[in-house]
Amino acid sequence: MGVSILSIIYIVGAITFIIGLKMMSHPDSARKGNIIAGAGMVAAILGTIFLYKNADGSGLQNHLWIFGAIIIGTLYGVIAARKVKMTGMPEMVSLFNGLGGASATLISVVEFNHLAELNFPAELSTPGTMAILFSGIILGNITFSGSLIAWAKLSGKLKDFAFQGQHIVNILLLLASIVLSVYISSDLQSENTTILFAAVFLISLIYGVLFVMPIGGADMPVVISLLNSLSGLSAACGGFLFDNKVVFTGGILVGAAGTILTVLMCKAMNRSLTNVLIGSFGGSKAAAGNKEQGAYKEISLNDSAVVMSYANKVMIVPGYGLAVAQAQHTCHELQKMLEAKGVDVKYAIHPVAGRMPGHMNVLLAEADVSYEKLLEMEQSNEEFPSVDLVLILGANDVVNPAAKSDPSSPIYGMPILDVGLAKNVVVVKRSMKPGYAGIENDLFFQPKTSMLFGDAKKVLQDLITEIKSI
Ligand code: NDP
Repeated sequence: MGVSILSIIYIVGAITFIIGLKMMSHPDSARKGNIIAGAGMVAAILGTIFLYKNADGSGLQNHLWIFGAIIIGTLYGVIAARKVKMTGMPEMVSLFNGLGGASATLISVVEFNHLAELNFPAELSTPGTMAILFSGIILGNITFSGSLIAWAKLSGKLKDFAFQGQHIVNILLLLASIVLSVYISSDLQSENTTILFAAVFLISLIYGVLFVMPIGGADMPVVISLLNSLSGLSAACGGFLFDNKVVFTGGILVGAAGTILTVLMCKAMNRSLTNVLIGSFGGSKAAAGNKEQGAYKEISLNDSAVVMSYANKVMIVPGYGLAVAQAQHTCHELQKMLEAKGVDVKYAIHPVAGRMPGHMNVLLAEADVSYEKLLEMEQSNEEFPSVDLVLILGANDVVNPAAKSDPSSPIYGMPILDVGLAKNVVVVKRSMKPGYAGIENDLFFQPKTSMLFGDAKKVLQDLITEIKSI
């Protein structure tokens, strides 16, 4: 009886994941989608704890350990998620991915030990089972160590590191872990099985480290998304091993969603995944290519306020600096004030603006900016020729024309917001310092562009005061 109720709970749980994921694809329904999927997950966990029956009919015994771990994990998760700043999200996602990978690895290790205790009976240690078990370990370990390195790099604790021939070493390590897994599975009774198993474990951990170490900073979002999809696939292996449909479905969904996001982000940067993984775009080396620039011109607050107030159409380009300044609410206020003066105001959203996919959408949604006001990159580029003023708020790389015009630039090929097509451009930032990719921006030196220096929030507040007095 218990088992059949549990099966129903698993099916319902799996359905909530699918519905939740669908709802997360729109900002209006994303929060609700998250809650629905979370509720499905809680039901599946509680169902497993209280309704799962072993072959001898006994239930799970170690409730103290299970609830101890759940309470500690939940407390840590809630505190971390509440405390994290929007700009620290990629780091947190990275850590969570890593923990997902580690859990998947542990599932495979537990199953391996279980089979070893039974002396690998042929009916339980089929080639299929062993293939899934080793896939879980290799994918889980790569996700774990790779995500920790990504976290350390994003939080500035580690720098890029590469050595001559590293890609070859990486490929050899990956091949070694696969070949060893096949070898172990072909002769499980061998006395070397345990030591070789430990070797696969270690090699896959090292591969994760060496795989992420050389990847440049600006490519980190793609890598995190890729690691996210690997964590899903490794979890799916765990679901397969224990014939647990809810874990399997959840893992496959994460794997598929992560893969789609990875492909979309590569497209947004106009690069292939191979190029991202073995290129060095946005690495520390990028800054070396800086060249001497001409003079830039500044604009006063008053002049900016006048140009904006008398414009027909203003396009705001938000970037990472807007998130740093936490100026989204002030920005919305400026938008409303300009609209009251009859100005048509819209936002041009670059897919990799900020520090995580959808960063600008989330930031502006937090300030209740209507979703209809946000234009995607292609739409924005079509509208720029009819725009009187582009107001760039803490964006840099995503409007850098070098991506189109300078083949030697590390960001060459990445599609950008073509703000130069508009009549005037005002750039709000604190200094002439470069953005994430560490390179100069020709846009700031072009005749149409004027710089308005200062913290984005302070500048927006001052602009609002100026516009009020016009
Ligand atoms: P950038 O990092 O290129 O530029 C941000 C600019 O904001 C800086 O030049 C900085 O200049 C300015 N700034 C910082 N703080 C403030 C502030 N308080 N007030 C005003 N300005 C400020 O940001 P973009 O959004 O243009 O581009 C995103 C970059 O990040 C891309 O290279 C992308 O590949 C990468 N990336 C994207 C991720 C994603 O998933 N979206 C994740 C990780 C990286 P100054 O110091 O002079 O003020």
